Amino acid sequence: MTDRNQLLFDRAKTVIPGGVNSPVRAFRAVGGTPRFVQRAQGAYFWDANGQRYIDYIGSWGPMILGHGHPAVVEAVQKALLDGFSFGAPTEREVELAQAIIDLVPSLEMVRLVSSGTEAGMSAIRLARGATGRKTIIKFEGCYHGHADSLLVKAGSGLATFGNPTSAGVPPEVVQHTLVLEYNNVEQIEAAFAEHGADIACVMIEPIAGNMNFVRASVPFVKRIRELCTQHGALFVFDEVMTGFRVGLGSAQGVYARLIPGFEPDMTVMGKVIGGGMPLAAFGGKRAVMEQLAPLGPVYQAGTLSGNPVATACGLATLKEIQKPGFFEALSAKTRSLVDGLKAAATAEGVPFSTDSEGGMFGFFLMPELPQNYATVMKTDGSKFNTLFHGLLDRGIYIAPALYEAGFVSAAHTDEDIATTVAAAREVFKQLA
Ligand SMILES: *Cc1c(COP(=O)(O)O)cnc(C)c1O
Repeated sequence: MTDRNQLLFDRAKTVIPGGVNSPVRAFRAVGGTPRFVQRAQGAYFWDANGQRYIDYIGSWGPMILGHGHPAVVEAVQKALLDGFSFGAPTEREVELAQAIIDLVPSLEMVRLVSSGTEAGMSAIRLARGATGRKTIIKFEGCYHGHADSLLVKAGSGLATFGNPTSAGVPPEVVQHTLVLEYNNVEQIEAAFAEHGADIACVMIEPIAGNMNFVRASVPFVKRIRELCTQHGALFVFDEVMTGFRVGLGSAQGVYARLIPGFEPDMTVMGKVIGGGMPLAAFGGKRAVMEQLAPLGPVYQAGTLSGNPVATACGLATLKEIQKPGFFEALSAKTRSLVDGLKAAATAEGVPFSTDSEGGMFGFFLMPELPQNYATVMKTDGSKFNTLFHGLLDRGIYIAPALYEAGFVSAAHTDEDIATTVAAAREVFKQLA
């Protein structure tokens, strides 16, 4: 049988660099031929050969309801007929901004944009503009989109500034970005002791999903909150992945339950709020947000921002996840998946640790959950690749790289979970 995935990939490579429009799709980390998706419905997608897969990526998080949810499809179809884009304000933008603010108490205002990268980049510009400071702090292993100043890895020592991780980013562009170790309280204290008066913001993935799945510890989040308040820096939660994915209150809701009164100063959202369409947002307190043009001196704009079809898709998605019991059911389902995988690995003698929150999960082929990027990177890559391909061969699609989180949708059935666990157990036999 001709492999249409391979034919398409060969053709793609002649017209698109690497054959893909975002690098992780190319399967470089795991080898093999990327699956070209033909269509998707519910918890499944079908590739160019007509092969069905249980989908645990869900477009890297947005498809929390599963693919093609009828209420979302209807809202999008209806919006489409009224026009694709106007470059003038619409009612749905106001409704979506209101819906986001109503669900996340730390937000008083939001601005809508089209991608998580754009939202993160704009949040940093605003944090710098609002504080009049230059320095930003990020953590190793956290991804905040591909803006120049964020494509940076730690320098040679603590409190030295970072080095670019991409060609095309001059060192001067990252000279105000400090990269620290995730969950390291002493380092953040030292950084504030040395640079406190220059720090505009600390940006974090509160539950990091771009180094598989690593939670910021409660003492770590609490200490950053104290230091930011004390030094007048803004604490920015990048919830592009976790926003409305780990719970209705997002990750900040999870931390507010553990740290009474906790709130970040600014929040970056994406993925779920667009329901699969290009839509993202950044927001915070009124006084900070009013520094944005046209009210204030911080410039930010977008031709397609708040797109009328994307806002319809996002609104319909947010409406569904607010139905009673939605997150309880999603969390239980996700929990049953990771518990099942853990039991299967244990039965076959494979070291395994796992964690989940709401509809987001991660697992590691190591006995204990890592607390930072360096430890995540100790995962055995060849074992992960065996697991990835073993599952793929059995019709189960997980992220094609070990440093990515996984996602369960409301459309996954108990049977899908059972099928996945049974397939994983077969593959674990090979790994033991
Ligand atoms: C996906 C992601 C981004 C970037 O969003 P894009 O829409 O891909 O630009 C930023 N931050 C986090 C935490 C993400 O998961």
